Amino acid sequence: MKPHYRVVFLLSYTGGGHKAVADAIQSAMRIQYDNTACIEFDYVDVFQEYCIPPFNQAPSLYANMVNNTPYLWGLSYLICNGRFRSQWAAWMLYQASRYKIDQLPHDHPADVIISVHSIITRPSYWAFRRVAKDTPSVTVVTDLAKPPWFWYEPSVDYCFVPTEYAYDTARRNGIAENRLSLVGLPVNPKFLTEQDDKTALKADLGLEADKRVVTIVSGGEGMGQLYQIVSALVQSDLDCYFLIICGTNDRLRQQLEDEISNPNVRIFGFVDMAQFLMLSDVLISKAGPSTIAEACVCGVPMIISGCVPGQEGGNADFVVDNHAGVYTEKPDEMIAYLKTWLSNDNILATMSNNAKKLSHPDAVWKVSEKIWELLQQ
Ligand code: UDP
Repeated sequence: MKPHYRVVFLLSYTGGGHKAVADAIQSAMRIQYDNTACIEFDYVDVFQEYCIPPFNQAPSLYANMVNNTPYLWGLSYLICNGRFRSQWAAWMLYQASRYKIDQLPHDHPADVIISVHSIITRPSYWAFRRVAKDTPSVTVVTDLAKPPWFWYEPSVDYCFVPTEYAYDTARRNGIAENRLSLVGLPVNPKFLTEQDDKTALKADLGLEADKRVVTIVSGGEGMGQLYQIVSALVQSDLDCYFLIICGTNDRLRQQLEDEISNPNVRIFGFVDMAQFLMLSDVLISKAGPSTIAEACVCGVPMIISGCVPGQEGGNADFVVDNHAGVYTEKPDEMIAYLKTWLSNDNILATMSNNAKKLSHPDAVWKVSEKIWELLQQ
């Protein structure tokens, strides 16, 4: 009989990136180990299920703040993001929510816990240390260029980081070298399938094979200035397809569907991004870490259209400094870039190569293998 294991992901549904990384790890483990073991995966939104108000409203609070008062989000981030300030904030959250959060290990017994969310990492680990102290813990840092200090609990059994900056911060926070690995940001294996038949992918969506494609997305929740960008692009004289992905933002999707009737424009809700990135010539996106990592793996040049103040601040520089894309919040500048790029194969090919150089297609397999190793111990 196959051995049975339980893997518990600790996250919050704030944005789509944390879940995307958890899904990526789950997919890789299923591919590698489904024949050998029966592995059950459990996702826990620690904010919603185990924290006191208003933290238990984190997913909607986060979306509201980031969309309506980004400067307030940026300010809170600035106040809390320091080595000692983040520890203090995490400790306060744990103490205030302890009567609930200490219940977490009872409700979700695990053979290994994996945190893919910065702020809930420490409070959750502390609860497991008190109640189920032998449960191995793994942190997979899902922010990209300059992740916040919240991630780095020194007692973690293993920590995966995406960049050298993150590696140095983790070391400064007391995580030993032999428990730390710089692997890049894990991307779902579905993005890694060699897919050179763009024509077939385009045909699936009813697109002509020889017309360029620009995909526009703004995180899993369709945040920020997506409406303004799309309105400007569809009025331009660019002759390409615009694939607009609204994610879970149904209101935006409805609004765009009501207002836009242009044969070059396709509007979608929450989609499987792999297909879209594989057929795209350019991606317009906010500086979301998972979207950037996925675009890099698929070699898609990027126009970064904005960033959530704080944790996404460094991501735009990461793309621009490595010549995989540009940053502009202005739709008329986006149109100017698109005019130049879409008419010049060399520019597109160079930027596509630069994006690929930033990718870490093996990251997800390394994480999967380490978790498997911990499950065996
Ligand atoms: N995503 C998706 N379908 C959509 C829109 C987004 O699967 O329709 C995924 C996208 O591929 C990425 C994640 O949602 O994996 C967004 O994560 P990111 O870190 O870029 O931004 P966040 O949503 O966390 O702000």
